[in-house]
Amino acid sequence: MLPLDPQADRGRRAWVSCPNCNDSRGCASCEQRRTCSDHWRYLLSNTGSLLHLQCPSCTHVWVHESGFGATRSLWNRITSGRPDPR
Ligand SMILES: [Zn+2]
Ligand SMILES: [Zn+2]
Repeated sequence: MLPLDPQADRGRRAWVSCPNCNDSRGCASCEQRRTCSDHWRYLLSNTGSLLHLQCPSCTHVWVHESGFGATRSLWNRITSGRPDPR
């Protein structure tokens, strides 16, 4: 297990499923792409639409191409923690 990155901050979270441990599999909140209180990732940093994430469950670090870095409203949906308006 890697140590948690010093940039890991509970105040900056992203709701992306972890490719390593898949801990959100079978979780109803995650499957509906809601902001789940159990399954979230540390948002270490971002470069444009690329998110640098660390999983708090398995400490896996990876880069996620969000594909919408330029679109502020969608970006907020992943990172702000506000519920989906739909
Ligand atoms: Zn993980
Ligand atoms: Zn979940």
